[in-house]
Amino acid sequence: MSDEATAIFEFATANHILFGPGLAETVPGIAAGLASRVFLVAGGTPERFGSIWSQMTAENLACETFSVTGEPTTDTVQSAVTSARAFGADGVVAIGGGSVIDTGKAVAAMLSNDGQLLDYLEVVGAGRPLEHPSVPYIAVPTTAGTGAEVTRNAVLSVPEHRVKVSMRSPFLLPQVALVDPVLTHSMPAELTASTGLDALTQLIEAFVSNKANPLTDGICREGLTRAGRSLRRAFEDGHDTGARADMALASLFSGLALANAKLGAVHGFAGPLGGLIGAPHGVICGKLLPYVMEANVQALRDRAPESPVLGRFDDVARLLSDDAQADASDAVTWIQSLCETLRMPGLRDYGLTDEVVPAAAEKARKASSMKGNPVELTVAELTAILEAASS
Ligand code: NAD
Repeated sequence: MSDEATAIFEFATANHILFGPGLAETVPGIAAGLASRVFLVAGGTPERFGSIWSQMTAENLACETFSVTGEPTTDTVQSAVTSARAFGADGVVAIGGGSVIDTGKAVAAMLSNDGQLLDYLEVVGAGRPLEHPSVPYIAVPTTAGTGAEVTRNAVLSVPEHRVKVSMRSPFLLPQVALVDPVLTHSMPAELTASTGLDALTQLIEAFVSNKANPLTDGICREGLTRAGRSLRRAFEDGHDTGARADMALASLFSGLALANAKLGAVHGFAGPLGGLIGAPHGVICGKLLPYVMEANVQALRDRAPESPVLGRFDDVARLLSDDAQADASDAVTWIQSLCETLRMPGLRDYGLTDEVVPAAAEKARKASSMKGNPVELTVAELTAILEAASS
């Protein structure tokens, strides 16, 4: 983190970001300006976006649809790439949650780069850099959540290694990120809760990370204010247009921040845990968030009481609660109370047993996101976080 005016940083994002209620209708026209044979990636119910698909045909675009159910595995993506190559796609449009958007990113990259997916994957593959820019790619999120429409990685699970890994490249940034909050109105309360907590986690971790910069700071502050006033409201009433718009912005901002600052211990856990247990990414993040915040604040007070990050946790509390007197401990309490309101389930329900905890703590300790955490947590602290999050 650098609070100095002389900070050196870079900021990269999608070529073009469009935000607004109702803008999803413009996707076919935008696609027609970028491609002629479009590979459409959607979730389990592509018919939800039937009018957009039919407008694609009206724009004389040749289309092939691919449906992604669940979080994407390397097999999911390999099968999508095979289908897109056979179709001769020269552009990709993905409309869905982070799972769909990440699949679209990997497909758009593999359409312009030779070889197999594994050649380009970190940890389990050769980790080769992509050589060529992706084919034109339009990412349209339907959860308010991941911010994946503006990040330069695609998260894929590798069941045979029981781990989630990322494909990473600046070429994975979409040509167009189009965020239409109306698309999120159909999310049920449970999904609103887990995806909203994912966005909140990304904003908090990027804000206190040791790679934060003045631009990500501004973005995080705005995102935290919006999530603080609107996540409960969106959970209670999915058709509250103001709350849905705030959360769509909070998610977008969380993606902008995470792509340009590092994350922290919650995401250090999320990669290994996502491979070891079957919990959705947002549930893992939301459940761990209050315990990781509590451990970070305590560890900083014990081992680095002069750290400016403690002041940042005070800021988190003030931005979320709109209380100018709130401090770091209040930030933890505020998030704990939010998780109770949102009825976050314990990770034991998804298979986080006592036997899994040591392996998860050890793998998390070595995860790349852990390097962005503002203080190094011990194995004992990591283990205590997992035990608390299991119930
Ligand atoms: P998701 O895409 O897995 O979707 C979860 C469920 O919600 C699916 O069943 C889907 O069909 C449904 N859904 C999506 N939109 C809906 C809507 N509007 N109405 C009703 N149902 C809807 O969930 P997610 O949390 O958006 O994405 C999770 C994935 O994103 C994970 O694989 C995670 O690792 C990844 N991720 C990627 C990044 C990145 O920067 N690339 C960042 C965070 C998370």
